[in-house]
Amino acid sequence: MRTEISEMTGLNGRPGHTETVAIATGSSTEAGGTAPELNWAGNYRYAAAAIHRPRTLEEVQDVVAGASKIRALGSRHSFNAIADSPGSLISLENLDPGIRIDAAARTVTVSGGTRYGTLAEKLESNGFALPNLASLPHISVAGAIATATHGSGDANGNLATSVAGLELVAADGTVHHLGRGSSPDFDGAVVGLGALGVVTKVTLDIEPTFAVRQDVFEALPWQTVLENFDAATSSAYSVSLFTDWSGDAVAQSWLKSRVPGAGGGAAAWAGDTHFGGTRATVARHPLPGVSAENCTEQLGVPGPWSERLAHFRMAFTPSSGDELQSEFFVRREHAVAAISELRALSPRITPLLHVSEIRTVAADQLWLSTAYGQDSVGFHFTWKQLQPEVEELLPVMEEALAPFSARPHWGKLFHADAASVAALYPRFADFKDLAERMDPEHKFRNDFLARKVFGE
Ligand SMILES: Cc1cc2nc3c(=O)[nH]c(=O)nc-3n(C[C@H](O)[C@H](O)[C@H](O)COP(=O)(O)OP(=O)(O)OC[C@H]3O[C@@H](n4cnc5c(N)ncnc54)[C@H](O)[C@@H]3O)c2cc1C
Repeated sequence: MRTEISEMTGLNGRPGHTETVAIATGSSTEAGGTAPELNWAGNYRYAAAAIHRPRTLEEVQDVVAGASKIRALGSRHSFNAIADSPGSLISLENLDPGIRIDAAARTVTVSGGTRYGTLAEKLESNGFALPNLASLPHISVAGAIATATHGSGDANGNLATSVAGLELVAADGTVHHLGRGSSPDFDGAVVGLGALGVVTKVTLDIEPTFAVRQDVFEALPWQTVLENFDAATSSAYSVSLFTDWSGDAVAQSWLKSRVPGAGGGAAAWAGDTHFGGTRATVARHPLPGVSAENCTEQLGVPGPWSERLAHFRMAFTPSSGDELQSEFFVRREHAVAAISELRALSPRITPLLHVSEIRTVAADQLWLSTAYGQDSVGFHFTWKQLQPEVEELLPVMEEALAPFSARPHWGKLFHADAASVAALYPRFADFKDLAERMDPEHKFRNDFLARKVFGE
């Protein structure tokens, strides 16, 4: 039986009751959090009139069935309007995380609104691990997989590739279960952009816990890196190159190596030099001049995966905090040529930039994944909060990367319109059909999806 929904205007919910909050009221902050009406970066104000915060699956069903326009909101870490709704938003943050480990099946099932940091701590304390994390643990599981959020590593797929099953509340309020290998729509539903329904539970693959050490090298000559690009990105379980595109050297290379040795060159961290760079002898933040206290431990000290795979620590602000982000993915064989284009644009990019990060992502079969069908290299840009200037530059960058069919990150700033974006995804028409089937009345559509995805 469904639970009656009560409306209230405060920020604190009552147990057992859905909380509906007028979106412009109140403000709450937490590590990695924001005031309610803004996204994390503060560059986007949600137009939705209210946020529902149900406490049970039945309440989620009621809210969705009763809404004419609604979308799921994660932890608000996207930089564009993707999560917004012309009606209301539904946040799962008041649902019990309900973390359930199935040791025999090597899976964990968790409520969609749970943050990766919470899940990682629980898994680690039970002797299990996820294969990878994004740069920050603050993001929600359902929000991250919806946009194909990723970490790094030649052999590591993005976070959505760990999904083995989804529980999803469809537009009419019914609950659907989709499983990898058992549901024909599964590959289309995982990176769903919030367009198919509200993902209430996610089942993820897990493995036995492992230790990771993190080593940072500095001032790697571009020439050496580019001549040995494949060797450089495969030299550890996860490799990140940080640059501002100016000058002759990559500023930092972060190597996350499984210890002992598995899944990435154990020798990579053995010496004091790495592709012409020198070992950092103090902990570094990717942004020049920023204290490393927000970062996970470096200097080669082994520790649990949950405290090394993300760059930033859960209890601290990730990255700069005062920033915007964009990211573009190319097939990895185009990486060196794409880097050359971006370095040529350095006079325009560098003044607007905090820092860029180059990472690798293994190919997958998820229809709207930015790594669909191709091993990929991601070029990430942490911009200063200069949105008009960044928006003026994005078309120039996208034109430079067009020969490589660069796919933009769904949750970050980009210029491309729906027609250009659709052309980048071989299964786009199938995704459109799936979205029509699951949401015939377009309850989950918003302006972002109209402009950037479906072209309505
Ligand atoms: C400091 C910082 C660092 C970042 N680092 C990385 C990185 O390392 N790698 C990377 O790839 N990205 C990174 N990002 C981007 C971020 O991971 C993505 O934007 C991600 O989608 C944010 O997740 P979220 O929970 O905040 O979701 P939101 O931004 O709130 O929502 C994103 C999308 O998910 C949908 N959604 C949310 N919850 C649900 C649900 N329950 N059911 C269905 N749909 C849902 C929303 O409707 C929306 O379409 C970073 C962002 C920040 C701010």
